[in-house]
Amino acid sequence: MSGKPAGTLILTVTRACNLRCTYCPTAKDGWPSLKPADAVRAVELFAQRYGGGDIKMFGGEPLLVPKVVRAAMEAARDEPRIRRVYLSTNGLGLNTDWLQFIAQFPKAILTISMDGAPEDHRRMRVAMHGRVPDAYDHIVSLMPELLATPRVVITQTVPPETAHNAGRNFDHLRALGFHRFNLLPGYYIAWNADQVANLKAGFGEIAERYETAWERGERLYLRNLFTWAPTPFFNTGLVVDSDRTIHPSNIGLSGTLDDTRNATVVGNLDNPPTVHNVHTLCITSHNPQIMRDKYKRRTVIGADFCH
Ligand code: SF4
Repeated sequence: MSGKPAGTLILTVTRACNLRCTYCPTAKDGWPSLKPADAVRAVELFAQRYGGGDIKMFGGEPLLVPKVVRAAMEAARDEPRIRRVYLSTNGLGLNTDWLQFIAQFPKAILTISMDGAPEDHRRMRVAMHGRVPDAYDHIVSLMPELLATPRVVITQTVPPETAHNAGRNFDHLRALGFHRFNLLPGYYIAWNADQVANLKAGFGEIAERYETAWERGERLYLRNLFTWAPTPFFNTGLVVDSDRTIHPSNIGLSGTLDDTRNATVVGNLDNPPTVHNVHTLCITSHNPQIMRDKYKRRTVIGADFCH
């Protein structure tokens, strides 16, 4: 059965992660991960039943389940209804093999999450129990290969605590040689008024950098310049969670919104929702209403997606 394209498949291949970023809202412990066959099933469903579009591979840290990621990407490779495959990672699982695989996969867009200068990156991106290599050092050790890999996007995460450094951190990431960015203020977390003012000022500085770069004809792209979502902070689309349940948004990734997750279940990989259900729930006020109920007295600002 085919239908109007759902637009986006958000595949939460695992919720496990080897970092514990201080601002990360994702509930990680006690969750299963998808199996390779689940990932293939989700890609096929997305293409055949919902008309396909873009796939966003998401976590947790997707590269902790490399076989699942490979299976999804290989299923997407020859499927003409899949346009692009975004692989979001904290960078720790990247190596030469992965970068070569990405380079040879024209649909793939690699998005690496970084906070900026090493002091802010290390302060926020805390290794789990100290057993994990330094994420900043690991990414920087791959710089020559990363700069030679096409379609690499840096997701600059901007938590409230370092929002005052957003402009400087952007400059640092750019000085490393990156020129494609996605800006991501921390979400599912509360911001106070000063922090929001800092963020606004930081975005102003970054906007000036873009204007200057474009005037000079330099390569500098902002991926989410035109992103719009009906629910601030969250992705909508066909969301397959790591336990195989299906949702019209990824609100339920948050450990603090467990009850809303139950409210958004619309099926699972064995019993997927109808095309009508997915589209209706994606584009109606279903999710904004949940958020309004949940965050009646909190500051809420817009963003694209987190990893
Ligand atoms: S933000 Fe991403 S890298 Fe950091 S703990 Fe959460 S899932 Fe892991």
